[in-house]
Amino acid sequence: KIEPADRMSALPTQFFAKLVGKANAQIAEGRDVINLGQGNPDQPTPPHIVKKLQDSASNPLYHKYPPFSGYSFLKEAVAERYMEDYGVELDPATEVAILFGGKTGLVEISQCLLNPGDVCLVPDPGYPDYWSGVALAGAEMAFMPLTKENGFLPDFSAISDETAADAKLMFMNYPNNPTGAIANEAFYAEAVQFAKRNGIVAASDFAYGAIGFDGRKQVSFLQAPGAKEVGIEFYTLSKSYNMAGWRVGFALGNADIISLINLIQDHYYCSLFGGIQEAAALALTGPQQCVADLSATYERRRDVLFESLDAIGWKADKPGGSFFCWLPVPEGYTSEQFADKLLYEADVVVAPGVGFGSHGEGYVRLGLLTSEERLREAVARIGKLGLFGA
Ligand code: PLP
Repeated sequence: KIEPADRMSALPTQFFAKLVGKANAQIAEGRDVINLGQGNPDQPTPPHIVKKLQDSASNPLYHKYPPFSGYSFLKEAVAERYMEDYGVELDPATEVAILFGGKTGLVEISQCLLNPGDVCLVPDPGYPDYWSGVALAGAEMAFMPLTKENGFLPDFSAISDETAADAKLMFMNYPNNPTGAIANEAFYAEAVQFAKRNGIVAASDFAYGAIGFDGRKQVSFLQAPGAKEVGIEFYTLSKSYNMAGWRVGFALGNADIISLINLIQDHYYCSLFGGIQEAAALALTGPQQCVADLSATYERRRDVLFESLDAIGWKADKPGGSFFCWLPVPEGYTSEQFADKLLYEADVVVAPGVGFGSHGEGYVRLGLLTSEERLREAVARIGKLGLFGA
């Protein structure tokens, strides 16, 4: 029998694997299941990016090991994009790290910065990958509740002096998964001050930065004055360019942290395949209409979904960004019981809020990752259960 290391038992269980298992069992029985539970973009990568990979795959230079920490042309491309989109200046040589998707960096930053027993401030509800890195580092989590009353932003004044003094790292994520909430400049300015005052590194997860609704452009944490002194931002091509399978992400900002992330990456991976780096650089520097079109597609889907929800009497606030909708569970159900009811009685998969943390209880998350027609159909099926009194 193989005995795993102790740290393996600290890894959080994959709550969503259970959800996928239940949904697949229904599909195997021949049910027409509409899956709004997962966060996998449903559209293909824009063709000009795919074509670039096809062409660059035959370049023999890329068949060798790539340079450690990646090609400078890709770092320059992301720095250009940040300047154009957010007016943020980044030195490609020292303030950019190339990652295998944002996910690797979100886990590695905890290993770079946290000793066993250190504290990390984590949003609740929040994206579960933050927990994994903290667990692997043997550190502790202090949850920052995200409540509707506070616009699903953490309330820094509610964090005790003791917790703030023990904390070394803090995660923030806007546009937010799972609530769809967004942040503004004032919030990030406050976050920088809080981090500075308490000697905390601030890590902003900007995975949904390109997806904003109602004509509002999302704000990057790095736009806040002094942000680079205290933190970094994680950025990814997965959502904005429909490139989730390509695994291209970045850490951007504070040079000391970037150098630690590059060091750990060099030990694990060397870097991404050069052909992928070349195509990713084209995504960032080529035509950007595809990004605007994608955001508009999610906005139309959001509006179709909320029209349908309104018709069945399911009242909720619309998300300002990301592709997730955060909907309250009717009285009498836990989020998991309610998700089961929708799966077994309406053939609709939603993610129970409790999977994102205890403050996610009372909500379910619906992803806008299928056609308008399927979204309408999903809500019509839920409506037939007669749970919302419309
Ligand atoms: N951060 C958040 C909040 C996410 O929802 C996701 C993906 O679902 C990621 C980061 C990771 O994205 P990737 O590793 O594909 O860059």
